[in-house]
Amino acid sequence: MASHGTDVVLLSVGSDLPYFTGYEAMPTERLTVLVVPADGEPVLVVPELEAPRVVPGDFETRVWSETDDPVLLAAQAAGKVESAAVGDHMWSAFLVAFQDLWPHVRWSAASNLTKALRIRKEPAEIEALRQAAHGVDRVMGRIPGEVRFSGRTELELSRRIAAMTMEEGHGTVDFAMVGSGPNGASPHHEPGDRVIGEGDLVVCDFGGRMSGYHSDSTRTFSVGPPAPDQVEVHRLVLDANRAGVAAVAPGVRSQDVDRAARKVITDAGYGEHFIHRTGHGIGLEVHEHPYMVEGNETVLAEGMTFSVEPGIYLPGRFGVRIEDIVACGSDGADVLNRSDRALVVVE
Ligand code: ZN
Ligand code: ZN
Ligand code: ZN
Repeated sequence: MASHGTDVVLLSVGSDLPYFTGYEAMPTERLTVLVVPADGEPVLVVPELEAPRVVPGDFETRVWSETDDPVLLAAQAAGKVESAAVGDHMWSAFLVAFQDLWPHVRWSAASNLTKALRIRKEPAEIEALRQAAHGVDRVMGRIPGEVRFSGRTELELSRRIAAMTMEEGHGTVDFAMVGSGPNGASPHHEPGDRVIGEGDLVVCDFGGRMSGYHSDSTRTFSVGPPAPDQVEVHRLVLDANRAGVAAVAPGVRSQDVDRAARKVITDAGYGEHFIHRTGHGIGLEVHEHPYMVEGNETVLAEGMTFSVEPGIYLPGRFGVRIEDIVACGSDGADVLNRSDRALVVVE
């Protein structure tokens, strides 16, 4: 904060607050905010009815009751302020209230300060991500034996996968994307009432949270024996996934992971059909720094965790994506997901 010239950091809704305190603000109209002055003790301002949830830590807790003004209370805790940094996800309603109270304060994004800490995971964080990854791996492993695809809608399949993800230890499921046949060519397809049939490739991308940390994995299944073009595209995407993973090492730039995966697909003539970045950081948030994308020169370091998820999307026909979460280790990638990456045939 001193080197950034920041007098106070304000953290509310979002992942910075649980990262530092273990406490997650309830996303409601009642303000919860951790006030971190450059000189002075941090103070958590919290609604009285939510105070029982707070586990005491290296901060003072000040409760506000229904008739108090929490913004005033937070401002008192902050002291004299000329520049303030605010968490990326603090609601604009709260920020505007602070701005009304402090019209001359300079504002910046707290992520400028917190990114450097959060981007490199500590061993316990990587372990939590590994457990979450193994949870979705177990679901992937159960799918061929337990889930019938043919004759069911994408939505039915999505609900089944979400239920299995909870069974395998997740606390929440944030998404269970199922894109069948031509719908697989839309990377963020919303599962709908299309009935899955023989000959379809089905892209299944799902994840949620376990102990606060996210999972996110994609496998592509074939309903019945795949056609030769489906086999070829799947093999290319798998090669691209492996090339991306193989590029991971400390000192490598984020964009080089994207380049390594993309080169396989471009060289085979499918470059225009790989329409998204190769990966995103993952941790307390499902998408966070670092992003594996052209133009991102962020140098990888031990402890960074992110997805490698190349895909090929052929409009009107089908799509393939293979996504793994990896941790950058001391001399290469530690791949957290372990489920079968082959084009598994299902019924
Ligand atoms: Zn995505
Ligand atoms: Zn992802
Ligand atoms: Zn995903």
